[in-house]
Amino acid sequence: MKITDVEVMILSLPEIVERTDGSQDTAVVRVTTDEGIVGIGEVDSSPWIVKAIIEAGKSHTICRGLREIVLGEDPFQVSRIWEKMYQGSIYYGRRGAAIQAMSGIDLALWDIMGKAAGVPVWRLLGARWRKEVRAYASSLFGDTLEDTGRMAREYVDRGFTAVKFGWEPLGKNAEYDVALVREIRRAVGSGVDVMIDAGLVWDAKTAIGMAKRFSEYNIAWLEEPLHPDDIDGYARLSSATSVRIAAGEEESSRQSYIDLMDRGNIDVVQVDVTRCGGLTEAMRIAGLAHDRHRPVVNHSFKSGINIAASLHFIAAVPNAFIFEYCVSQSPLRHDLTLQKFEVIDGMVKVPEEPGLGVDLNEKTVATYRVA
Ligand code: MG
Repeated sequence: MKITDVEVMILSLPEIVERTDGSQDTAVVRVTTDEGIVGIGEVDSSPWIVKAIIEAGKSHTICRGLREIVLGEDPFQVSRIWEKMYQGSIYYGRRGAAIQAMSGIDLALWDIMGKAAGVPVWRLLGARWRKEVRAYASSLFGDTLEDTGRMAREYVDRGFTAVKFGWEPLGKNAEYDVALVREIRRAVGSGVDVMIDAGLVWDAKTAIGMAKRFSEYNIAWLEEPLHPDDIDGYARLSSATSVRIAAGEEESSRQSYIDLMDRGNIDVVQVDVTRCGGLTEAMRIAGLAHDRHRPVVNHSFKSGINIAASLHFIAAVPNAFIFEYCVSQSPLRHDLTLQKFEVIDGMVKVPEEPGLGVDLNEKTVATYRVA
């Protein structure tokens, strides 16, 4: 089997609001083969930059567009293709957008392999540690304290046994930040896990203080309180608090994760399969975390494609325990795939269909496609 084409589709809501909300647009990657099997992937990045990186022509040996690198390759040689993309983009890549763009192609190749073999991707990854996984409702904070509390209660009423709130407005007013956490805990009661995603807003000393204040409300982890480059800050924070520290969603390639684990000493390793280099690299990162006795979790704030790929990933690694389930109202989150991945009694099922187990809803594609 040979790859005959790679296409990037950009989908966007008509209006992008000023908020750290990744569900407003997306890049969908479609890889075609000479046997008629088509694989689908997704990238969480700037879709416009991803499209440029994939569609770029060749400048020289180590400065090439990804499409041009993979054309004619056999999808079953997925780790060889990964290495070819990595080597062919050294000049502008190695981290960040190039690795994120590689993720989309890598996911589509796993989808193709699964479809060709007639098995779900978790089988190709070599294990299914769980048929379903406990999901946590992942949300941005509401506009007011009351809104946030009401939303938290709604998620619990829908069956979730864990909730996470994050980003704006944290970091502006410490008293309000503590009030938000208090309100969420009050709304959900004592039997529900609460996680807080700070969204890169503090320095290490401030984060140490906030972790102490939040710990009064028994939070299950504090996520990304520091700038992703502040690895020493993560090390200081981690040694100063008993609250588990989660990070990793900004990272791409395993080298960055080794830094976060070995120098930053984080506790919960967040892996986004649409950012870190795809399932091929995600499995390596999970292995590195497992060797260090750290759990991995998914990061997923895009469409059903990311959800499906993350479910295969979380199913296939021993050191996973909970699933980020984005509850954004965006139609790109809910209607881009025909499959809905419903949460029942707080659990979400791992797909059983061949490949990633997703089909694009062509109506949604037609409505929101801008390039
Ligand atoms: Mg986060």
